[in-house]
Amino acid sequence: VIRVRFAPSPTGQLHFGGLRTALYNYLFARSTNGKFLLRIEDTDRERTVPGCKEHLQQLLEWTGLKPDEKPCIQSERVHLYQQCLNDLFQKKNSNEYIYPCYCPIERLKLLRHEAKRQNQPYRYDQKCRQLTTKQKDEYKRQGVPSVVRFILPPDESQVYDDLIFGQHEHNPYHTEGDFIIMKADGYPTYHFANVIDDHLMAITHVFRGHEWQTSTSKHLLLYKAFDWQPPKYGHLPLIEREKGRKLSKRAEENYQNPIEIEYYRKNDFIPDGLLNFITLTGGGFRTDTTIGKTLEEMIETFDHTLLTRHAAILDFKKLDVCQRAHLKRRYKQDRIGVIEKLRQKVMKYYPDKKRGTSLQLETSYLERILDLDEFRIATLENLFNNDLYEYLWTEPVLNISKDDDIEQLRFIIESSLKYKNIGTYETAKQIINDYKNLNSKDKLTNKEIFKVWRLTICGCIKGPPILDIVNFFGTDIVQKRCERALD
Ligand code: GLU
Repeated sequence: VIRVRFAPSPTGQLHFGGLRTALYNYLFARSTNGKFLLRIEDTDRERTVPGCKEHLQQLLEWTGLKPDEKPCIQSERVHLYQQCLNDLFQKKNSNEYIYPCYCPIERLKLLRHEAKRQNQPYRYDQKCRQLTTKQKDEYKRQGVPSVVRFILPPDESQVYDDLIFGQHEHNPYHTEGDFIIMKADGYPTYHFANVIDDHLMAITHVFRGHEWQTSTSKHLLLYKAFDWQPPKYGHLPLIEREKGRKLSKRAEENYQNPIEIEYYRKNDFIPDGLLNFITLTGGGFRTDTTIGKTLEEMIETFDHTLLTRHAAILDFKKLDVCQRAHLKRRYKQDRIGVIEKLRQKVMKYYPDKKRGTSLQLETSYLERILDLDEFRIATLENLFNNDLYEYLWTEPVLNISKDDDIEQLRFIIESSLKYKNIGTYETAKQIINDYKNLNSKDKLTNKEIFKVWRLTICGCIKGPPILDIVNFFGTDIVQKRCERALD
């Protein structure tokens, strides 16, 4: 049976890259009747952020990518890695694989420095590989801290079939020296724990970020040392903001759309829409688009052989499209639920005193907002998190600018009230005529009249077609707002 895992290191916020990895593993498991597991890789004590793993799990739960078994937490099973290390040491030919290293940090720093000076890759010089048993015993007796290194064979390229990139060949010996598998603090390094756990958890397939591809050769060597069967590996191309621009914390500050998933949860995005958005780049589906599809529906059309090899560029303009599709879908399926949610938000953002009238909480009013496509909201939160829709919840403030002709404005509003049928082309025509009779040199146009109506009713100058807005509010409210503007 197929078993895959998502194995984040709890060192920071989950972002789109991580969620994408989790999603593809999940889709692969579900579409093959396999299992999707979660493993927290927290053996780097310095980089592990408290609370992060709990948060990660909440986010996965929120997105619907729920693991099938209890998560495996690496820091809780350090004894297992120690045991596996002992097993390696017990092997007859263990000196072909591993050795303890007692070199002090200062020495390693010097080696690194020297390599840099000579423009060479840093490679540990294997000094400790030559130690005699007596020397080792002496170090131990003195309590000198030690790490364990894994020996990289010089002429052994590792070849494997990448599920996405096809045949891949790499010899880590050319770029680095014997790598550490057990640290001085008794915790394993990423490579060691990763391989042991994939084996112990009986993982059959690994989909992970492209940045891990060069580690795979080391992992394959570890599998050989243990005589274990490695899983199949597939490396997912990285996500980019724009062509050639990686997602990086520093560059991110310039962008409007955060990459942290928490932001989208906080702002009440619909998770399926967020997952759609991630799948719009990089292939992987037998359908043209996943927009509007639920996670269940995405499973039905997922095919990992259709994943592309080039970088996946996120097009944030499509995020709104995905959200809108799911909001509509949800509203269709659960009108009452969505209306109720909207009502909660009105109460939260516009507590009693700030609200225009009690109308704002009425079901029919909220329903009409949701029915009116012209509002073009992506999330319910959009109705509150910018000032575009403030007039739906409070009486607008008439913001007149220096360039506005107050007399004309007054004339338009007064005439509108006279004709009562504000918001129709006929009324606009009447007002234009009246104005012509009164004042032969200036002419009024529909555009100007509509602008004044919008200003009076909405307090702003942009938004859905004003005739729709007038229609939406109905005569009573529109007249009241006009009268108020004249005060
Ligand atoms: N802990 C690694 C990460 O944070 C996991 C890499 C892998 O899946 O092997 O991405």
